[in-house]
Amino acid sequence: MGTGPELEVEVRRIQPYQARKSYVCPGCNQDIGIGIGHVVVVPLTAPDLRRHWHRPCWAHRDRRRPGRNS
Ligand SMILES: [Zn+2]
Repeated sequence: MGTGPELEVEVRRIQPYQARKSYVCPGCNQDIGIGIGHVVVVPLTAPDLRRHWHRPCWAHRDRRRPGRNS
């Protein structure tokens, strides 16, 4: 997966009917509401650190991440 130093992760799709809680998306710091389909990103080596993301935020995460202007 890519050439960066990114952790290996498993991405699981959450369907709208599975979204029974709201979460804060780390990509945009907005809520992911109940009933919104999204993704869960689970680091393979640290499953406790799973995060819930909006699908488009996850897809475009590289653009949103600051500090990559080398
Ligand atoms: Zn988001």
